[in-house]
Amino acid sequence: MISMKSVNKHFGALHVLQEIDLEVPRGQVVIVLGPSGSGKSTLCRTINRLEPIDSGEIAVDGKVLPAEGKALAALRADVGMVFQSFNLFAHKTILDNVMLAPVKVRKKSSADAKAKAYELLERVGIANQADKYPAQLSGGQQQRVAIARALAMNPKVMLFDEPTSALDPEMVNEVLDVMTSLAKEGMTMLVVTHEMGFARKVGHRVLFMADGQIVEDAEPATFFTAPKSERAKDFLGKIL
Ligand code: ADP
Ligand code: MG
Repeated sequence: MISMKSVNKHFGALHVLQEIDLEVPRGQVVIVLGPSGSGKSTLCRTINRLEPIDSGEIAVDGKVLPAEGKALAALRADVGMVFQSFNLFAHKTILDNVMLAPVKVRKKSSADAKAKAYELLERVGIANQADKYPAQLSGGQQQRVAIARALAMNPKVMLFDEPTSALDPEMVNEVLDVMTSLAKEGMTMLVVTHEMGFARKVGHRVLFMADGQIVEDAEPATFFTAPKSERAKDFLGKIL
C-alpha cells in the first residue's frame, strides 16, 4: 500500500531522510519510533508530498506520486493525515470541517457529504457536537474530529504524527480507542507515537528511526524485549 524506494530528503546540509526503503502491505499498522529530530515527521510528510523529496520514489496503492499537479492532488487525497496540533478550521463548525474537503476536492454533493460527515462523527463519538466550533471542544474531541475529517476523504492510508502528544492525559485514550478500531477494520496506518501500550497492542511492526535512517524494523514484541541497536536500547531506556 505504501512503497518507498531509495528516498532521500535534505533540508539544506541536513540529510534528513537517507536512502529510505519501506514497503507497507495493505492493512498493516506500522509504529514509528525514534528520538526527536530523527526524521519521523518528515517521513510522514513525504508520503503525501507535503514535503517534496530529492530523489527516490514513493508509491501509494501502486501509484507513484508525481512531484506536482492534478494527479498529485488526487493521490494526496488517498492519504489521510492527523497531526499533533489538530489543525481544524477555527471559523468553521465541526460538521463543516468534516464536509469541506469531500465537497471541494471529491466534488461530492452537499447532502452526501453531510450524511457521510454525520456517520463519521457518530463513529468517533461526537455527532452531538456537530454544530459547535473547534474552540468549544476539548482537545480529545478536536482530535477525533480531525480523524473524522481525514476519513471523510475515504483514504487508503492514514498517517498519524504524534496524535496524542498535545492532549491532556485523560483524553489520550479516547483518541487511541478510535485509532484502535480503525486498525481493527483493516486500515493501513503509519503511526508516530510515544504511546508504548498502543504500539505493543495495536502495532504489527515497529520502525525505529535515528538520524534519518530506519535502524530497526521488527515486530513490536521483538523490538521492545530485544532491541538490536545501541541507539534503540538507549531510546527505550529513556522512555520505558
Ligand atoms: P522528528 O519528527 O523525528 O522529531 P523531523 O522529521 O521533524 O523529526 O525533523 C528531522 C530534522 O529535520 C530535524 O533536525 C529538524 O530540525 C529538521 N527539519 C524538519 N523540518 C524542517 C524544515 N522545514 N526546514 C529545515 N529543517 C527541518
Ligand atoms: Mg516529529
